[in-house]
Amino acid sequence: MTDLRTCMNKSVLEERRPSICDRRENGISCERESVSGAVSQRACVYCGARVVLNPITDAFHIVHGPIGCASYTWDIRGSLTSGEDTFRNSFSTDLRETDIVFGGAKKLTAAIDELMENINPAPKLLFIFATCIVGVIGDDIEAVCRTAEARYGIRVIPVKAPGFSGTKSLGYRMACDAIMKLILPHANQPKRFGVNILGDFNLAGEMWIIRGYLEQIGIPVISTITGDSSYKTLLLAPSATLNIVQCAGSSAYLAERMEAEFGMPSLRVSFFGIEDTTNSLLRVADAFGRPEISANARRFAAERTAQILPVIEKYRPYLEGKRAAIFVGGGFKAISLIRQFNELGMEAVVVGTQTGKKDEYEVINSLVNSGTVVLDDANPAELERFMMEKQADILVGGVKERPLAYKLGMAFCDHNHERKQPLAGFEGIENFVKEIHKSINSPVWKYI
Ligand code: SF4
Repeated sequence: MTDLRTCMNKSVLEERRPSICDRRENGISCERESVSGAVSQRACVYCGARVVLNPITDAFHIVHGPIGCASYTWDIRGSLTSGEDTFRNSFSTDLRETDIVFGGAKKLTAAIDELMENINPAPKLLFIFATCIVGVIGDDIEAVCRTAEARYGIRVIPVKAPGFSGTKSLGYRMACDAIMKLILPHANQPKRFGVNILGDFNLAGEMWIIRGYLEQIGIPVISTITGDSSYKTLLLAPSATLNIVQCAGSSAYLAERMEAEFGMPSLRVSFFGIEDTTNSLLRVADAFGRPEISANARRFAAERTAQILPVIEKYRPYLEGKRAAIFVGGGFKAISLIRQFNELGMEAVVVGTQTGKKDEYEVINSLVNSGTVVLDDANPAELERFMMEKQADILVGGVKERPLAYKLGMAFCDHNHERKQPLAGFEGIENFVKEIHKSINSPVWKYI
Protein backbone atom coordinates (compact mmCIF):
# COMPACT_ATOMS: atom_id res chain seq x y z
CA MET A 1 0.00 0.00 0.00
CA THR A 2 1.26 3.43 -0.93
CA ASP A 3 1.68 6.16 1.62
CA LEU A 4 -1.23 8.63 1.86
CA ARG A 5 0.68 11.63 0.48
CA THR A 6 1.95 9.68 -2.55
CA CYS A 7 -1.56 8.41 -3.17
CA MET A 8 -2.98 11.95 -2.89
CA ASN A 9 -0.41 13.35 -5.30
CA LYS A 10 -1.83 11.14 -8.00
CA SER A 11 -5.51 11.75 -7.54
CA VAL A 12 -6.63 14.56 -5.26
CA LEU A 13 -7.41 18.17 -6.14
CA GLU A 14 -4.99 20.60 -4.49
CA GLU A 15 -7.83 22.42 -2.64
CA ARG A 16 -9.10 19.14 -1.19
CA ARG A 17 -5.83 18.10 0.45
CA PRO A 18 -6.38 19.84 3.81
CA SER A 19 -9.63 17.84 4.18
CA ILE A 20 -7.88 14.46 3.95
CA CYS A 21 -5.42 13.19 6.48
CA ASP A 22 -3.70 10.24 7.99
CA ARG A 23 -4.68 9.81 11.64
CA ARG A 24 -1.11 10.79 12.67
CA GLU A 25 -1.72 14.27 11.29
CA ASN A 26 -3.81 16.74 13.22
CA GLY A 27 -6.01 19.60 12.11
CA ILE A 28 -8.24 18.25 9.37
CA SER A 29 -10.05 21.03 7.49
CA CYS A 30 -13.82 20.62 7.94
CA GLU A 31 -17.06 22.59 8.48
CA ARG A 32 -16.48 24.52 5.27
CA GLU A 33 -18.18 24.78 1.91
CA SER A 34 -17.48 22.11 -0.70
CA VAL A 35 -14.70 22.73 -3.19
CA SER A 36 -16.14 23.78 -6.53
CA GLY A 37 -15.70 21.06 -9.14
CA ALA A 38 -14.99 18.32 -6.60
CA VAL A 39 -18.47 16.70 -7.04
CA SER A 40 -19.10 16.42 -3.31
CA GLN A 41 -21.12 13.52 -1.88
CA ARG A 42 -22.75 16.04 0.44
CA ALA A 43 -26.38 17.08 0.01
CA CYS A 44 -27.48 20.73 -0.35
CA VAL A 45 -28.78 23.22 2.26
CA TYR A 46 -32.42 22.59 1.31
CA CYS A 47 -31.93 18.82 1.56
CA GLY A 48 -30.44 19.22 5.05
CA ALA A 49 -33.50 21.18 6.18
CA ARG A 50 -35.92 18.80 4.51
CA VAL A 51 -34.50 15.60 6.01
CA VAL A 52 -34.88 16.97 9.54
CA LEU A 53 -38.43 18.31 9.12
CA ASN A 54 -39.81 15.63 6.83
CA PRO A 55 -40.55 12.95 9.48
CA ILE A 56 -43.16 15.15 11.23
CA THR A 57 -45.99 12.82 10.37
CA ASP A 58 -48.88 15.26 9.96
CA ALA A 59 -46.99 18.23 8.47
CA PHE A 60 -47.39 19.39 4.87
CA HIS A 61 -44.18 20.30 3.09
CA ILE A 62 -44.47 22.62 0.10
CA VAL A 63 -41.28 22.91 -1.92
CA HIS A 64 -41.30 26.32 -3.57
CA GLY A 65 -39.02 25.77 -6.54
CA PRO A 66 -38.65 23.65 -9.67
CA ILE A 67 -40.07 20.15 -9.44
CA GLY A 68 -36.55 18.66 -9.36
CA CYS A 69 -35.90 19.86 -5.79
CA ALA A 70 -39.08 18.16 -4.55
CA SER A 71 -38.33 15.04 -6.52
CA TYR A 72 -34.73 14.90 -5.21
CA THR A 73 -35.96 14.77 -1.62
CA TRP A 74 -39.25 12.93 -1.99
CA ASP A 75 -39.62 10.18 0.57
CA ILE A 76 -35.90 10.08 1.22
CA ARG A 77 -36.13 8.96 4.80
CA GLY A 78 -37.35 5.52 5.78
CA SER A 79 -39.04 7.12 8.79
CA LEU A 80 -41.95 5.12 10.16
CA THR A 81 -45.11 6.51 11.69
CA SER A 82 -47.50 5.27 14.34
CA GLY A 83 -50.10 7.84 13.31
CA GLU A 84 -50.68 9.93 10.21
CA ASP A 85 -48.70 9.52 7.00
CA THR A 86 -49.09 12.94 5.41
CA PHE A 87 -45.29 13.26 5.32
CA ARG A 88 -45.14 10.51 2.72
CA ASN A 89 -46.53 13.06 0.20
CA SER A 90 -44.52 15.79 -1.46
CA PHE A 91 -45.97 19.11 -2.67
CA SER A 92 -44.29 21.54 -5.04
CA THR A 93 -45.10 24.84 -6.73
CA ASP A 94 -43.31 23.45 -9.79
CA LEU A 95 -41.85 26.83 -10.81
CA ARG A 96 -41.46 27.34 -14.58
CA GLU A 97 -39.71 29.93 -16.72
CA THR A 98 -42.53 32.51 -16.58
CA ASP A 99 -42.65 32.23 -12.77
CA ILE A 100 -38.93 32.91 -12.65
CA VAL A 101 -39.37 35.99 -14.85
CA PHE A 102 -42.51 37.41 -13.20
CA GLY A 103 -42.14 36.02 -9.66
CA GLY A 104 -43.54 32.90 -8.00
CA ALA A 105 -45.18 34.30 -4.84
CA LYS A 106 -48.69 34.17 -6.33
CA LYS A 107 -48.17 30.55 -7.27
CA LEU A 108 -47.11 29.78 -3.70
CA THR A 109 -50.21 31.48 -2.30
CA ALA A 110 -52.34 29.49 -4.76
CA ALA A 111 -50.64 26.24 -3.66
CA ILE A 112 -51.38 26.95 0.01
CA ASP A 113 -55.01 27.86 -0.81
CA GLU A 114 -55.39 24.69 -2.85
CA LEU A 115 -54.17 22.55 0.06
CA MET A 116 -56.42 24.32 2.55
CA GLU A 117 -59.49 23.98 0.31
CA ASN A 118 -58.97 20.36 -0.70
CA ILE A 119 -57.52 18.55 2.29
CA ASN A 120 -59.94 17.34 4.89
CA PRO A 121 -59.37 17.70 7.81
CA ALA A 122 -57.53 20.94 7.01
CA PRO A 123 -53.73 20.99 7.56
CA LYS A 124 -52.53 22.40 10.88
CA LEU A 125 -48.86 22.77 10.02
CA LEU A 126 -47.17 23.74 6.76
CA PHE A 127 -43.47 24.15 6.03
CA ILE A 128 -42.60 26.22 2.97
CA PHE A 129 -39.13 25.52 1.58
CA ALA A 130 -37.54 28.10 -0.71
CA THR A 131 -34.94 26.45 -2.95
CA CYS A 132 -32.13 27.84 -5.16
CA ILE A 133 -34.08 29.73 -7.79
CA VAL A 134 -36.32 31.40 -5.20
CA GLY A 135 -33.16 32.62 -3.48
CA VAL A 136 -32.19 34.21 -6.79
CA ILE A 137 -35.54 35.80 -7.75
CA GLY A 138 -36.25 36.84 -4.16
CA ASP A 139 -39.92 35.88 -3.66
CA ASP A 140 -41.00 37.17 -0.25
CA ILE A 141 -42.04 33.80 1.17
CA GLU A 142 -42.09 35.16 4.73
CA ALA A 143 -44.88 37.56 3.75
CA VAL A 144 -46.79 34.74 2.02
CA CYS A 145 -46.48 32.59 5.16
CA ARG A 146 -47.60 35.44 7.47
CA THR A 147 -50.65 36.11 5.30
CA ALA A 148 -51.57 32.40 5.19
CA GLU A 149 -51.20 32.05 8.98
CA ALA A 150 -53.52 35.01 9.51
CA ARG A 151 -56.03 33.82 6.91
CA TYR A 152 -56.29 30.20 8.02
CA GLY A 153 -55.27 30.35 11.70
CA ILE A 154 -52.65 27.61 11.28
CA ARG A 155 -48.84 27.52 11.44
CA VAL A 156 -47.12 28.21 8.10
CA ILE A 157 -43.36 28.27 8.63
CA PRO A 158 -40.90 29.48 5.99
CA VAL A 159 -37.58 27.69 5.52
CA LYS A 160 -35.40 29.85 3.28
CA ALA A 161 -32.93 27.21 2.14
CA PRO A 162 -31.45 27.90 -1.30
CA GLY A 163 -28.98 25.08 -1.98
CA PHE A 164 -26.19 27.50 -2.77
CA SER A 165 -26.39 29.43 0.51
CA GLY A 166 -24.01 27.19 2.47
CA THR A 167 -23.55 23.54 3.38
CA LYS A 168 -25.98 20.82 4.43
CA SER A 169 -25.22 21.83 8.04
CA LEU A 170 -26.80 25.22 7.42
CA GLY A 171 -29.95 23.39 6.31
CA TYR A 172 -29.94 21.51 9.63
CA ARG A 173 -29.77 24.83 11.48
CA MET A 174 -32.64 26.20 9.41
CA ALA A 175 -34.75 23.17 10.30
CA CYS A 176 -33.89 23.64 13.99
CA ASP A 177 -34.87 27.33 13.75
CA ALA A 178 -38.17 26.30 12.11
CA ILE A 179 -38.88 23.89 15.00
CA MET A 180 -38.08 26.65 17.50
CA LYS A 181 -40.47 28.97 15.69
CA LEU A 182 -43.14 26.30 16.13
CA ILE A 183 -42.57 25.50 19.83
CA LEU A 184 -41.43 28.87 21.21
CA PRO A 185 -44.98 30.18 21.74
CA HIS A 186 -45.55 27.11 23.98
CA ALA A 187 -42.58 27.76 26.27
CA ASN A 188 -44.68 28.39 29.37
CA GLN A 189 -46.08 25.04 30.35
CA PRO A 190 -45.56 23.01 33.53
CA LYS A 191 -42.41 20.87 33.58
CA ARG A 192 -42.77 17.10 33.23
CA PHE A 193 -40.35 14.38 34.30
CA GLY A 194 -38.96 12.88 31.10
CA VAL A 195 -36.86 13.41 28.01
CA ASN A 196 -37.18 14.64 24.46
CA ILE A 197 -35.34 12.51 21.90
CA LEU A 198 -33.69 14.84 19.36
CA GLY A 199 -32.04 13.82 16.11
CA ASP A 200 -33.66 10.43 15.75
CA PHE A 201 -35.79 10.07 12.63
CA ASN A 202 -37.32 6.68 13.40
CA LEU A 203 -35.61 4.99 10.47
CA ALA A 204 -36.97 1.44 10.29
CA GLY A 205 -38.55 2.06 13.72
CA GLU A 206 -35.27 2.80 15.57
CA MET A 207 -36.82 5.54 17.68
CA TRP A 208 -39.45 3.09 18.94
CA ILE A 209 -36.65 0.77 20.12
CA ILE A 210 -34.90 3.55 22.07
CA ARG A 211 -38.19 4.86 23.42
CA GLY A 212 -38.98 1.32 24.64
CA TYR A 213 -35.62 1.06 26.45
CA LEU A 214 -36.09 4.39 28.22
CA GLU A 215 -39.62 3.52 29.27
CA GLN A 216 -38.51 0.14 30.63
CA ILE A 217 -35.86 1.91 32.68
CA GLY A 218 -38.50 4.30 34.02
CA ILE A 219 -37.85 7.41 31.93
CA PRO A 220 -40.91 8.76 30.06
CA VAL A 221 -40.42 10.19 26.57
CA ILE A 222 -42.22 13.51 26.26
CA SER A 223 -41.55 14.42 22.64
CA THR A 224 -39.55 13.07 19.71
CA ILE A 225 -37.91 15.45 17.24
CA THR A 226 -38.62 14.56 14.59
CA GLY A 227 -39.08 10.78 14.21
CA ASP A 228 -42.73 9.72 14.54
CA SER A 229 -43.66 13.21 15.78
CA SER A 230 -46.79 15.23 15.15
CA TYR A 231 -47.79 18.86 15.50
CA LYS A 232 -49.39 18.06 18.86
CA THR A 233 -46.47 16.08 20.34
CA LEU A 234 -43.87 18.64 19.19
CA LEU A 235 -45.64 21.32 21.21
CA LEU A 236 -45.00 19.29 24.40
CA ALA A 237 -41.22 19.52 23.92
CA PRO A 238 -40.65 22.65 26.07
CA SER A 239 -42.08 20.82 29.10
CA ALA A 240 -39.46 18.01 29.23
CA THR A 241 -36.67 17.84 31.82
CA LEU A 242 -33.83 16.82 29.51
CA ASN A 243 -32.99 16.66 25.81
CA ILE A 244 -31.07 13.65 24.56
CA VAL A 245 -29.44 14.18 21.18
CA GLN A 246 -28.83 11.19 18.94
CA CYS A 247 -27.76 12.82 15.64
CA ALA A 248 -25.66 15.70 16.94
CA GLY A 249 -24.87 16.97 13.43
CA SER A 250 -28.49 17.80 12.74
CA SER A 251 -29.84 18.53 16.21
CA ALA A 252 -27.13 19.75 18.62
CA TYR A 253 -27.99 23.31 17.58
CA LEU A 254 -31.66 22.74 18.46
CA ALA A 255 -30.58 21.47 21.90
CA GLU A 256 -28.47 24.63 22.35
CA ARG A 257 -31.39 26.85 21.42
CA MET A 258 -33.74 24.95 23.75
CA GLU A 259 -31.22 25.32 26.57
CA ALA A 260 -31.01 29.07 25.93
CA GLU A 261 -34.79 29.53 25.68
CA PHE A 262 -36.15 26.96 28.16
CA GLY A 263 -33.13 26.29 30.39
CA MET A 264 -33.29 22.64 29.32
CA PRO A 265 -29.99 20.72 29.57
CA SER A 266 -28.97 18.15 26.99
CA LEU A 267 -26.86 15.01 26.63
CA ARG A 268 -25.34 13.66 23.43
CA VAL A 269 -26.04 9.98 22.98
CA SER A 270 -25.49 7.24 20.44
CA PHE A 271 -27.38 3.99 20.32
CA PHE A 272 -25.15 2.19 17.82
CA GLY A 273 -23.03 -0.68 19.17
CA ILE A 274 -22.78 -2.22 22.64
CA GLU A 275 -20.36 0.32 24.10
CA ASP A 276 -22.20 3.45 22.98
CA THR A 277 -25.70 2.08 23.66
CA THR A 278 -24.73 1.04 27.18
CA ASN A 279 -22.91 4.31 27.95
CA SER A 280 -25.80 6.34 26.60
CA LEU A 281 -28.42 4.53 28.67
CA LEU A 282 -26.36 4.87 31.85
CA ARG A 283 -25.58 8.55 31.31
CA VAL A 284 -29.23 9.41 30.60
CA ALA A 285 -30.36 7.46 33.67
CA ASP A 286 -27.70 9.03 35.92
CA ALA A 287 -28.66 12.51 34.73
CA PHE A 288 -31.88 12.29 36.75
CA GLY A 289 -30.09 11.58 40.03
CA ARG A 290 -32.62 8.89 41.00
CA PRO A 291 -30.85 5.75 42.25
CA GLU A 292 -33.68 3.40 41.21
CA ILE A 293 -33.53 4.62 37.60
CA SER A 294 -29.74 4.28 37.48
CA ALA A 295 -30.03 0.76 38.90
CA ASN A 296 -32.71 -0.13 36.33
CA ALA A 297 -30.46 1.13 33.52
CA ARG A 298 -27.48 -0.90 34.74
CA ARG A 299 -29.58 -4.04 35.08
CA PHE A 300 -31.20 -3.55 31.67
CA ALA A 301 -27.90 -2.90 29.87
CA ALA A 302 -26.21 -5.89 31.56
CA GLU A 303 -29.07 -8.24 30.60
CA ARG A 304 -29.18 -7.09 26.99
CA THR A 305 -25.38 -7.18 26.67
CA ALA A 306 -25.34 -10.76 27.98
CA GLN A 307 -27.91 -11.66 25.31
CA ILE A 308 -26.06 -10.01 22.42
CA LEU A 309 -22.48 -11.12 23.18
CA PRO A 310 -23.01 -14.73 21.96
CA VAL A 311 -24.31 -13.33 18.64
CA ILE A 312 -21.12 -11.28 18.24
CA GLU A 313 -18.97 -14.26 19.19
CA LYS A 314 -20.79 -16.41 16.61
CA TYR A 315 -20.03 -14.06 13.71
CA ARG A 316 -16.66 -12.72 14.85
CA PRO A 317 -14.59 -15.58 13.32
CA TYR A 318 -16.06 -14.74 9.88
CA LEU A 319 -15.29 -11.04 10.22
CA GLU A 320 -12.07 -10.77 12.20
CA GLY A 321 -9.31 -9.03 10.25
CA LYS A 322 -11.66 -7.59 7.59
CA ARG A 323 -11.32 -3.94 6.62
CA ALA A 324 -14.12 -1.39 6.57
CA ALA A 325 -14.57 1.97 4.87
CA ILE A 326 -17.08 4.34 6.47
CA PHE A 327 -18.68 7.36 4.83
CA VAL A 328 -21.69 8.71 6.72
CA GLY A 329 -23.45 12.00 7.41
CA GLY A 330 -22.16 12.99 10.83
CA GLY A 331 -19.12 12.40 13.00
CA PHE A 332 -21.00 10.82 15.91
CA LYS A 333 -22.24 7.93 13.76
CA ALA A 334 -18.75 7.40 12.32
CA ILE A 335 -17.35 7.18 15.87
CA SER A 336 -19.94 4.57 16.87
CA LEU A 337 -19.25 2.56 13.72
CA ILE A 338 -15.49 2.47 14.35
CA ARG A 339 -16.22 1.11 17.85
CA GLN A 340 -18.69 -1.43 16.43
CA PHE A 341 -16.13 -2.69 13.92
CA ASN A 342 -13.54 -2.94 16.71
CA GLU A 343 -16.02 -5.08 18.70
CA LEU A 344 -16.11 -7.43 15.69
CA GLY A 345 -12.32 -7.57 15.35
CA MET A 346 -12.48 -5.49 12.14
CA GLU A 347 -10.51 -2.38 11.28
CA ALA A 348 -11.78 0.92 9.89
CA VAL A 349 -9.27 1.85 7.20
CA VAL A 350 -11.13 4.80 5.60
CA VAL A 351 -13.40 7.07 7.66
CA GLY A 352 -15.25 10.06 6.24
CA THR A 353 -18.28 12.21 6.95
CA GLN A 354 -20.36 14.83 5.16
CA THR A 355 -20.65 17.24 8.07
CA GLY A 356 -18.23 16.12 10.82
CA LYS A 357 -16.93 18.69 13.29
CA LYS A 358 -13.38 19.30 14.52
CA ASP A 359 -13.93 17.71 17.95
CA GLU A 360 -15.53 14.65 16.32
CA TYR A 361 -12.55 14.20 13.97
CA GLU A 362 -10.26 14.35 17.01
CA VAL A 363 -12.18 11.43 18.58
CA ILE A 364 -12.07 9.56 15.25
CA ASN A 365 -8.28 10.04 15.12
CA SER A 366 -7.96 8.69 18.65
CA LEU A 367 -9.88 5.50 17.75
CA VAL A 368 -8.34 4.43 14.42
CA ASN A 369 -4.97 2.86 13.67
CA SER A 370 -2.05 4.60 12.07
CA GLY A 371 -2.51 4.63 8.30
CA THR A 372 -6.29 5.03 8.36
CA VAL A 373 -7.42 7.70 5.91
CA VAL A 374 -9.74 10.28 7.49
CA LEU A 375 -11.57 12.59 5.10
CA ASP A 376 -14.22 15.28 5.25
CA ASP A 377 -16.81 15.98 2.52
CA ALA A 378 -15.39 13.36 0.14
CA ASN A 379 -16.18 12.91 -3.52
CA PRO A 380 -16.60 9.59 -5.37
CA ALA A 381 -13.13 9.68 -6.94
CA GLU A 382 -11.46 10.08 -3.55
CA LEU A 383 -13.57 7.40 -1.92
CA GLU A 384 -12.82 4.99 -4.74
CA ARG A 385 -9.11 5.73 -4.64
CA PHE A 386 -8.72 5.31 -0.89
CA MET A 387 -11.00 2.29 -0.57
CA MET A 388 -8.98 0.48 -3.21
CA GLU A 389 -5.68 1.66 -1.83
CA LYS A 390 -6.59 0.49 1.69
CA GLN A 391 -8.15 -2.73 0.35
CA ALA A 392 -11.48 -2.23 2.10
CA ASP A 393 -13.77 -5.27 2.19
CA ILE A 394 -16.96 -3.29 2.83
CA LEU A 395 -18.27 0.26 2.56
CA VAL A 396 -20.80 1.55 5.07
CA GLY A 397 -22.63 4.56 3.68
CA GLY A 398 -25.87 5.82 2.22
CA VAL A 399 -27.81 5.71 -1.00
CA LYS A 400 -25.26 7.79 -2.92
CA GLU A 401 -22.37 5.54 -1.92
CA ARG A 402 -24.08 2.23 -2.68
CA PRO A 403 -23.45 2.19 -6.48
CA LEU A 404 -19.85 3.18 -5.91
CA ALA A 405 -19.23 0.10 -3.74
CA TYR A 406 -21.03 -2.25 -6.10
CA LYS A 407 -19.19 -0.89 -9.13
CA LEU A 408 -15.93 -1.68 -7.36
CA GLY A 409 -17.17 -5.19 -6.54
CA MET A 410 -17.21 -4.38 -2.84
CA ALA A 411 -19.68 -5.32 -0.11
CA PHE A 412 -21.98 -2.54 1.12
CA CYS A 413 -24.08 -1.78 4.20
CA ASP A 414 -26.71 1.00 4.06
CA HIS A 415 -26.53 2.94 7.30
CA ASN A 416 -28.56 5.90 6.15
CA HIS A 417 -32.02 7.09 5.12
CA GLU A 418 -33.43 4.18 3.21
CA ARG A 419 -32.74 1.11 5.26
CA LYS A 420 -35.50 -1.26 6.17
CA GLN A 421 -33.94 -2.89 9.23
CA PRO A 422 -33.14 -0.98 12.42
CA LEU A 423 -29.46 -0.73 13.29
CA ALA A 424 -29.86 1.07 16.63
CA GLY A 425 -30.05 -0.49 20.08
CA PHE A 426 -29.34 -4.14 20.92
CA GLU A 427 -31.76 -5.34 18.21
CA GLY A 428 -29.82 -3.18 15.77
CA ILE A 429 -26.48 -4.68 16.83
CA GLU A 430 -27.72 -8.13 15.84
CA ASN A 431 -29.05 -6.83 12.49
CA PHE A 432 -25.79 -5.00 11.83
CA VAL A 433 -23.53 -7.98 12.55
CA LYS A 434 -25.64 -10.29 10.39
CA GLU A 435 -25.79 -7.79 7.55
CA ILE A 436 -22.05 -7.14 7.58
CA HIS A 437 -21.39 -10.90 7.59
CA LYS A 438 -23.89 -11.63 4.80
CA SER A 439 -22.56 -8.83 2.64
CA ILE A 440 -18.82 -9.39 3.11
CA ASN A 441 -18.99 -13.17 2.94
CA SER A 442 -21.51 -13.40 0.12
CA PRO A 443 -20.40 -15.90 -2.56
CA VAL A 444 -21.22 -13.31 -5.23
CA TRP A 445 -17.87 -11.53 -4.79
CA LYS A 446 -16.03 -14.63 -6.07
CA TYR A 447 -17.61 -14.12 -9.50
CA ILE A 448 -16.47 -10.52 -9.98
S1 SF4 B 1 -32.14 23.61 -3.61
FE1 SF4 B 1 -30.68 23.99 -5.28
S2 SF4 B 1 -29.00 22.52 -4.96
FE2 SF4 B 1 -30.77 21.82 -3.72
S3 SF4 B 1 -31.90 20.38 -5.05
FE3 SF4 B 1 -32.84 22.41 -5.40
S4 SF4 B 1 -31.70 23.27 -7.16
FE4 SF4 B 1 -30.49 21.55 -6.38
